[in-house]
Amino acid sequence: MDWHRFLHTAPQAYLGRGATDRRALALTFDDGPGQATPALLDLLCELEVTASFFCTGQAARAHPELIARIQREGHEIGNHSLTHADARGFAAQDWLAREVLPAAVALREAGLARSPELFRPAYGEIDEAQFQALAGEGYAVVGWSVDPRDWLEPQAPGYVSCVVESVLARIHPGAIVLLHDGDDEQGRARDGIVEIVRRLVPALRGQGYEFVTAGRFLRAD
Ligand SMILES: [Zn+2]
Repeated sequence: MDWHRFLHTAPQAYLGRGATDRRALALTFDDGPGQATPALLDLLCELEVTASFFCTGQAARAHPELIARIQREGHEIGNHSLTHADARGFAAQDWLAREVLPAAVALREAGLARSPELFRPAYGEIDEAQFQALAGEGYAVVGWSVDPRDWLEPQAPGYVSCVVESVLARIHPGAIVLLHDGDDEQGRARDGIVEIVRRLVPALRGQGYEFVTAGRFLRAD
């Protein structure tokens, strides 16, 4: 595949970071909604921060009331596949039919007002044919530019500080920050996300950053 040509003809197909001429960044939360999501939403509301949530269809089915709440509170919702299956090994059309389209249906059934326009692949894994299949369905693929690996060892001492410092060390104008609010693979709540965001937001504001949704970056170009 000629990526250069493809991205030239479809400039809206992939978003890895926003424009770098403005101190704006997008916080993105994956795998939810989950047990930590209500407290995270309370905090985002208190801090007046708007964010993007990449939800699985499975989690949307389990917590439809949270899909409605995320949307009502002004955040953006993207498709993060139905079951968080690793896309590697799936033929593009099979994957679209089994993981992408049913997730959009689940999100709509949970109350999402419009079909999602953003897609983030589970584990960031996607091949060229899958990428083109998504573009054919009108999706933009959203990657990230800052990954503090917040999913790794949440029980470790100093976990919250470590994640916060990792973001602050890597932040840049136009950053898309990868975080997680959904339950982990063992079904445990990712409670640490609330304290991470509580510390992160004032620190980033102190550096002059404003918070936008990832979709805002796409529409700004
Ligand atoms: Zn994920």
